[in-house]
Amino acid sequence: MNIVSSVVEVRAQVKEWRRLGLSVGLVPTMGYLHEGHKSLIVRAVAENDRVVVSDFVNPTQFGPHEDLDSYPRDIDADSRLCEAAGAHLIFHPRPEDMYASDFCTWVDMTGLTEGLCGKSRPGHFRGVCTVVSKLFNIVAPDRAYFGQKDAQQLAVIRRMVRDLNFDVEIIGCPIVREADGLARSSRNTYLNAEERQAAVVLSRAVTLGRTMMEQGERRAEMVLFAMRKMLEGEPLARIDYVEMVDASSMQPVAEIRGPVLCAIAVYIGKTRLIDNVVFEG
Ligand code: AMP
Repeated sequence: MNIVSSVVEVRAQVKEWRRLGLSVGLVPTMGYLHEGHKSLIVRAVAENDRVVVSDFVNPTQFGPHEDLDSYPRDIDADSRLCEAAGAHLIFHPRPEDMYASDFCTWVDMTGLTEGLCGKSRPGHFRGVCTVVSKLFNIVAPDRAYFGQKDAQQLAVIRRMVRDLNFDVEIIGCPIVREADGLARSSRNTYLNAEERQAAVVLSRAVTLGRTMMEQGERRAEMVLFAMRKMLEGEPLARIDYVEMVDASSMQPVAEIRGPVLCAIAVYIGKTRLIDNVVFEG
């Protein structure tokens, strides 16, 4: 497994692959890889001749009081997982490889980024759109793979690709969960044993929401009320948001018609976790 940190090296490798007529897939990650990331890499390997995994804790998508410094990192374990999943190259830049000291160009988006995680994390999606644009320009992949786990991020990236005419196909991949339902996340490592048990309330609430919609409930208010009640029943949980939005515009809906995203963000102790379900309606 080749790990490179410089943009020049990635470009040279991709250029060589292109010369040989090979297709290229990209899996952008912040590292500390788990089964969720692995599912994206395995899919990318199945659909492309060569796969680049970017492994970069992107500082510009963290707010000033967020967990940038404590975010877990383990490039050796990541390298083993990438190797096992069949990836061909890890792009592991240092922050200074991505951001010159006088960096001042941003990709920003209105609308879709204003609710949900965008509301609680101002500037987050500006950092995401900027770094993903840079990765698309550096790797120039045919396809790029993103998890449904970060549903708003996936919608934002799809819109950015459409609006800015990036020549890349965006592939959304299903949420990978632990045996008890908790969505896999690098941040799960922050949870102590008691919090880990409590964290299962997120997937339970999402499952409750999905069941109500499957059984015919069309009033968003009723679904959200039941989910909030369940979350409030867990003493270690503190709700950030519980929302029902249109799956492509990310605008709140009152009546469940057509594809909706039912998304939650909940603090378990000091750890902020997210989960969601898309209901096709
Ligand atoms: P991250 O390293 O958390 O930025 O995630 C990198 C990519 O992996 C994003 O597209 C995530 O949506 C995706 N991802 C993270 N966790 C999961 C999961 N449990 N299931 C599916 N995809 C995931």
